[in-house]
Amino acid sequence: MNLKIFDKRNIIRVLSAVLSLALVGLVAFSPLPASSAQESLDDLKQQYSDLEKEVAENEKKLKQVESQISTNEEKLKTISKDIDTIKSQITILDQRINVLDGSISELRPQITTLNKQIEKVEENIDELTAEIEESQQLAQETQDKLLERIREDYMVGGNATMIELLLSSEDLSTFLARMELMDRVSENDEQLIKDMEKRAEELNALKEEADVQKADLQIKKGLLDSKMNQLRSNQYDLESSRSAASSKQATLDNRYAQVNELLGELDEDSEEYQRQIARQRAEMEVLSREIDNYIAQNGSSQGEEVPQEYLVNRQSAGLIWPVPYSNTAVTCGFGYYSNGQPHYGTDIVVRDANGNNISNGKNIVAAQSGKVIRAINNGGYNSGYGNYCIIDHGNGMLTLYAHCKTLTVYEGQIVSQGQKIGEIGLTGNTTGYHLHFEVRIKNADGSVSRVNAMNYVSP
Ligand SMILES: [Zn+2]
Repeated sequence: MNLKIFDKRNIIRVLSAVLSLALVGLVAFSPLPASSAQESLDDLKQQYSDLEKEVAENEKKLKQVESQISTNEEKLKTISKDIDTIKSQITILDQRINVLDGSISELRPQITTLNKQIEKVEENIDELTAEIEESQQLAQETQDKLLERIREDYMVGGNATMIELLLSSEDLSTFLARMELMDRVSENDEQLIKDMEKRAEELNALKEEADVQKADLQIKKGLLDSKMNQLRSNQYDLESSRSAASSKQATLDNRYAQVNELLGELDEDSEEYQRQIARQRAEMEVLSREIDNYIAQNGSSQGEEVPQEYLVNRQSAGLIWPVPYSNTAVTCGFGYYSNGQPHYGTDIVVRDANGNNISNGKNIVAAQSGKVIRAINNGGYNSGYGNYCIIDHGNGMLTLYAHCKTLTVYEGQIVSQGQKIGEIGLTGNTTGYHLHFEVRIKNADGSVSRVNAMNYVSP
């Protein structure tokens, strides 16, 4: 199983392990049902192997769930990163909006001041305009009165042409010039008209000045207004960006919550599978003990004498050749090496049609069903055996498989006859690829004899 992921899950694993141990303890101490003693070893092995399959199935499902968990955790990480990014974008946008708000607040009183100034100038212009109108009206009235008086004088004198001429004057100055020519206007009248004319000029000058001032202020105000418009438009842009970012964050938050919820469900599934596996393993442990008991009562562990027929009748032992290939050969038999050293096993190789040794990696199978009581797969020397395993078949019979490239069984595993247990290799004390195969018989006194495998089995 792949143990990584969160602490929480590891804690749950440890708890389930403790729980299953406790369960095993409970079951182990409770007396076995009477009927189970009668169950044959094969039945027990069958139950064990069924459970083993269920565990494998559950472990497969657990692996799938865990891979989904890790996929979703990756997703969660990505979403989390995206949320952080968008949050920092929002922070930056907020800062910029704040700066902009500050600029707008600074600009606003300047515009207000300018507006007030413009208002004042406009008032001034209005007053001047009124005064100009008033003085123009006064001039008109004065002119009318003068004209009236002159007309009366001339009506008496009868000079109609002069009257026509005067009446056709466009303005006061022309009128006065003509009057002077006629020498009819009194000094007093002339002064009055000249004063009025001067006043009109002054007023016009003042108004012109005010107009210039107003135009000036309006240019300034125009600049500020356009600056303000620019700021407002920037503010609008920033605020729409911010609102887009906010809604994106909301979407991401939502997605995060969904994935998180899914993860919670997957966690529950994972825990459930782990509970099931722990339960099944506990049951397997119980079965394994029952098998041990059975073997102890009927075979090797109690050290009963090996039934004589095993030694004489290979059919009774029921072993099969542990290297399941058509072209195998024994390169060194039980007894002695060519150098005189004792050899307790049977060395088996696989050959091709040309007689070449093609043993490397070839399958090794269990010669008989039984329980793996030793499985050393560390690649070490191991007293010359290299990677090796021993299977206890009950009835005082055990088999050993040495120099393996690798083992595919573990200690305590129940195996059936013909099941692959490893591959031929070159580990330990060996110069060529081969299987070193031993048959061991447990004696009544508990000692173990290594016997010639060829008495029990042949290619
Ligand atoms: Zn050997």
